[in-house]
This record gives sequence, structure tokens and C-alpha cells, in this order.
Amino acid sequence: MALHLFDQWRARSPYYNESHDAWAMTVRRFVEKEIAPYIDEWEEREEVPLTLNVKAAELGLIQLGFPEEYGGITQGIDAFHSIVTGDELAQTGASGLTASLFMHSVALVPVLRFGNEDLKRRVATEVLAGRKTMAIGLTEPSGGSDLAAVKTRAERRGNKWILNGSKTFISNGTRADYLTIVARTGGPGADGLSLFLVEKGMPGFSATRLKKMGWHCSDTATLYFDDVELPAENLLGPENRGFLATVSNLNNERAGLASGACAYARCALEEAYEWACQRETFGKPLIKNQVIRHKFAEMMRQISASQAFADQMVWAMMNDKLDFALLSLSKVQATRTLEFVARECAQILGGACFVRGSKVERIYRDVRAHAIGGGSEEVLLDFAARHMGFG
Ligand SMILES: Cc1cc2nc3c(=O)[nH]c(=O)nc-3n(C[C@H](O)[C@H](O)[C@H](O)COP(=O)(O)OP(=O)(O)OC[C@H]3O[C@@H](n4cnc5c(N)ncnc54)[C@H](O)[C@@H]3O)c2cc1C
Repeated sequence: MALHLFDQWRARSPYYNESHDAWAMTVRRFVEKEIAPYIDEWEEREEVPLTLNVKAAELGLIQLGFPEEYGGITQGIDAFHSIVTGDELAQTGASGLTASLFMHSVALVPVLRFGNEDLKRRVATEVLAGRKTMAIGLTEPSGGSDLAAVKTRAERRGNKWILNGSKTFISNGTRADYLTIVARTGGPGADGLSLFLVEKGMPGFSATRLKKMGWHCSDTATLYFDDVELPAENLLGPENRGFLATVSNLNNERAGLASGACAYARCALEEAYEWACQRETFGKPLIKNQVIRHKFAEMMRQISASQAFADQMVWAMMNDKLDFALLSLSKVQATRTLEFVARECAQILGGACFVRGSKVERIYRDVRAHAIGGGSEEVLLDFAARHMGFG
């Protein structure tokens, strides 16, 4: 009965080989043993134990693509191994979990690119071993779409920087040990921004957790900086050059988000399909009704197109052929597909979709995090339109 969509997808795709399949099975066993039995409880408790990061690091899950000298893994892998990791984690139906495990995939990059050797060794080795966690702070209470309008300010005082301002909707915000923060160091606009590393426990830094519609197991917070004193080496990269470093860093995230949205859509579809085969109405299983069958065909149509688009973007990234406009469109395409699929699957589950306990219920309420986080639909569509020369 089961469609085994996850495996079938890879088998048909030109981008995956035996190495990806083998890695998928390794991650699958980890998910079955360390996550699946506990995820409902973590969602209810609204936290993922920090020990999961250590266990994930022991397997090599959170180090892919990072330099080996700091504990990363580069030998014998490519970007599709990371996509496979996200895919397998998606089978939990809990995308908030990936925020707990993978915020360093964006936040650590500027530290490795710009930090001095001491900082890199101190931060990266601990984070890649799962002993410390990270967050990235771009969005502010006054808005997140317009990054160039950041108000949080850092001022040089002697050989220190003094940080003042606030960030909000920050994943891992209260539990992160290290936070990569965008702040204004110069005049208005994109040319006045720099990146800093803030460390948990620094005097003047505090964070409060937010109650959310979805992503319950993920820690999302508002951060406050009140005269936080940062050593000179915590400035990451050249002063006033933080905007480009930040946006170029978001490409990996967007590619991952696009593939992830497709994977959660497949996860929802698989659960709804099982339900449609078992649930009987009017004397026959739901799936025997043409209107229900067609829902599955329609969902597969959209998932297949979105997944192919997303995979192509990963390939383009690996081969230096990435078109940023298409990457933006791919993320929008994938999250719209997820939104459609979540809606259709919830409809197929009927009243059961409204009760806690199914993956579909969780995926349905998590959809907005996909469609808004990492660049909202409107912002990405407009970026793509302008980049492609429309208007
Ligand atoms: C679950 C979750 C986790 C997140 N994690 C992080 C994180 O770890 N770090 C971080 O920095 N941020 C994070 N964010 C914030 C996210 O990146 C922002 O929510 C997003 O960038 C949009 O910013 P905003 O919410 O302030 O919306 P606004 O910028 O206020 O925009 C509101 C709405 O208007 C639309 N809009 C804005 N401008 C225009 C325009 N010119 N034309 C048409 N429409 C427009 C937007 O698309 C959006 O739908 C997270 C968000 C969520 C939901």
C-alpha cells in the first residue's frame, strides 16, 4: 500500500547515486531510533533536547560541507547529501526540528569565512561537535523583508563594539551559544551593515521565547541588545560590507528550504494516501473515489515539478551555474506546492486533520514558516522579477 515516495523519487532522479542512497538509509535509521519515538513529546513540550545535536554530530549529520579541520565533512560528499539529510528528517513531519539542528548551516558560515583562527577554532569545532548551537539574527521588530533597513546599531568604542537594538522571530534564539547578528555600523542602506558574533551570557544580551502557531518544538525568540560589549575580533568581515555577505549566504538556505518543502509535501501525501486506502465511506475506501484519486495525481504533478526544479537549483549551485532569480522562484514554487498539498491532505483526513497526532496536522500548521521564513513569497517574486528584467 505504501507509496515509498521518498525512495522512488531518488531512484528516478539523475542527481542521486548509491552514495546518496546509502547515506539516506543511515539517516533513516537515526531518525527511526532517535527522533520518531520522541517527536510528538518534543512538540508538546516545545523543545528538542540539546543532546540530539551531539548524537546527530556523532553520525556526521550536522557537519556536511564544513571544513574538515574544524570537524566538518567534505570527503566523498556533495550538496545532494545535505538534501538527502533534510529529506529523511522530513519524514518526521516536524520541520521545526530542522531549525533546532541546522541554524549553524547559515550562522556559522561568516565565522568560518571572516573570523580569526582562534574564533574559528573555538566556535566551529564546538558547534560541529553538537556541543554548542547557533542562531542568525537578521529580522527586527520593525520588519524583516527589507534587510537594508536594519536599525540595530554597533558603535566602535576604543577597541570594542557596543551593540544596541533588537531582533525578532530568531530560531534558536534563547538556546544558541553563538549568534551571528547583522547591525548597522555606517550610514543608511545596504552599505552601512556589518556582521557580528554575539555570545550567550554577554552582559546586556537577553532573549525571550515566543509562542507560535507551528514549529512548536523550535525555539523562536526576540533578542535584546542593551550596550552589549563585543571584542574587536567579533566583527565578522570588513566593516560596512555585511549586506552582501549576508544575502549571498542565504542561497544555500533557500535551496535547502525549497527541497525541504517538497519533502514535507511528500511526507504529508504519504500519510494521506495510507489514510485514503484504509478509511471507508459509503461502503468503500476513500481512494476508490475518483475525486480523491485525482487529488493524489494533482499533488504528485505539483510535487514532481517543484522537486525537479529544486534539484536543478542544487545542481546549478554545485556547478557554478546558479541563477539567483530562478533559485528564488524555486523556493516560492516549492512552498506553494507544500501549501497546496497540506491543504489537500488535511481535507482527505477530514476531522482527523484537526486533532493533534498526525503529521498532516503538524505540516498544515507549519506551512507559514516555510512560506515566510528565508525570504517571503512576495519579496522573492519581486527580487526575481527585477533580476530578470521585468518592469
Ligand atoms: C518560524 C520562523 C522562523 C524564523 N527564523 C528566523 C531566523 O532564524 N532569523 C531571522 O533573522 N529571521 C527569522 N524569521 C523571520 C523571517 O525571515 C521574516 O518573518 C521574513 O523575512 C518576513 O519579515 P517580516 O515577518 O518582518 O514581514 P514584513 O517584512 O513586515 O512583511 C510583511 C508581509 O508583507 C510582505 N511584503 C513586505 N514588503 C513587501 C513589498 N514591498 N511588496 C509586497 N509585499 C511585501 C511580506 O512578504 C510579508 O508577507 C523567521 C520567521 C519565521 C516565521
